[in-house]
Amino acid sequence: MTPARPPMTDTAAPNDRVTVYRADWILPVAAPALADGALAVAGDRIVAVGPAAEISAAHPGAGLVDLGRSIVMPGFVNCHSHLEYTTFRGILDDAEFGDWILQLVDIKASLTPDEYLDSARLGAVESISSGITTVADTSYTGTSIRAADEAGLRGRVYLEVYGIDDARLDETMREVDERLTAARALAPERIDVGLMAHAPYTVSSRLYEAIAERSRAEGLKVASHVAESRHELTYVRAGSGKFAHDFREKLGWERMLVQPYGVSPIKYLQQWNVFNEHFLAVHCTQATLDDIRILRAKDVAVAHCPKSNAKLGCGVAPLADMLHQGVRVGLGTDSPAASNIMDMFDEMRTMLLLHRATERDVTVLDAERCVRLATLGGAEALGLGDAVGSLEPGKFADFIAVDVSRSHFEPIANPCSALVYGANQDDVFLTVVGGRVLYRDRVFTTIDDAAFRSAAHVVRQRLQERVQEGVQVGSAESGWWRPAPAGSGAER
Ligand SMILES: [Zn+2]
Repeated sequence: MTPARPPMTDTAAPNDRVTVYRADWILPVAAPALADGALAVAGDRIVAVGPAAEISAAHPGAGLVDLGRSIVMPGFVNCHSHLEYTTFRGILDDAEFGDWILQLVDIKASLTPDEYLDSARLGAVESISSGITTVADTSYTGTSIRAADEAGLRGRVYLEVYGIDDARLDETMREVDERLTAARALAPERIDVGLMAHAPYTVSSRLYEAIAERSRAEGLKVASHVAESRHELTYVRAGSGKFAHDFREKLGWERMLVQPYGVSPIKYLQQWNVFNEHFLAVHCTQATLDDIRILRAKDVAVAHCPKSNAKLGCGVAPLADMLHQGVRVGLGTDSPAASNIMDMFDEMRTMLLLHRATERDVTVLDAERCVRLATLGGAEALGLGDAVGSLEPGKFADFIAVDVSRSHFEPIANPCSALVYGANQDDVFLTVVGGRVLYRDRVFTTIDDAAFRSAAHVVRQRLQERVQEGVQVGSAESGWWRPAPAGSGAER
């Protein structure tokens, strides 16, 4: 496919010299947008941002890359993804959240570790071509680390943890330690490893506590799906509903006692001293004002996933109140099993439209705020605000260029508005992480995307066959999670 804009012209410098990237607009995010601006990069860092003439004059020996009619901005920080679920795209498009998660159990169990890698690679392909440079990914198998590393992405992979059987608590934490050690050995410097306590209905309060202790002692980053659905609310408050019955039966947990705690999921986790500044609460659609005050007091960050929440019928998170209270919030696409595409432009647009519609107030969110949430806001939510999320000297050279030469952008009054109201992932034509070009003129430079796409296609065909045959959760072939064997002390 021929891009609408001509290929970029350049005399890119070798890695140790300065390269100046010029564009019709530069969007530093932490500073006002610049028309006819430039970004100077040396090695993996940004060294200067400013008017093109000034930057060129200050770096006379630099290589020059003219990006023409484009907007250069920081790469997106995707605060919640599951790269390894990318082959699940479109498989459960119209299921209600409770049914969706029940069916997802079978689908997850049907892939082998190698197939999870093929699935995560497809997710890495899409991330790069849609301008995502930092991922906050959730992975049971840890294969996302390899997929993200091969592709050249930055970020964090949270290893997913399940367990409600406190008789196995020590064993679970030993496994967690082993998995952390193995994952850290695999991860390059630009990808760190955290833990994802899956959710209050799949992780016991004591397991949450043990993970929080590790977080306090070691600064370990922890995430969890929190206050996502009404089912979860009913489960924590009353110890009943779909998660207390159907879901537990599915996982072989039906004989274990369910406690009614009588409080909201966020209050429940606070009572177990789970929260601190390293904690990322994903979703929070059911959060009340009291809950939001708890998140703020404990400096917990939130990953807001408006499309996933809307598509699964979970609701709309109280973003206006969270921002008003000063909670750190980033934007996440969630997995393609939930919201199909990892398009941060579409996510920003949906966020703005949903909140303006539900609040009946246009002042609740503007385009500039959306771009900030999708970049610097996400970086701050992940504790990476000093390293990425904006175009500033000293930060990593993680940036993208968006082609705005096509008719749906003309004329441009405000570059943030152009991006939020008009752009989509196909408009990205350059993705750079740490000064390294990963995608240029819509061509991948680090990976064989065609091979990854066809491998993922094969995985999907196998998956469909196995799901039809009926799969066993935790079978020897499954890459996904082994529940406690029957009679292991689960009956109490
Ligand atoms: Zn998730």
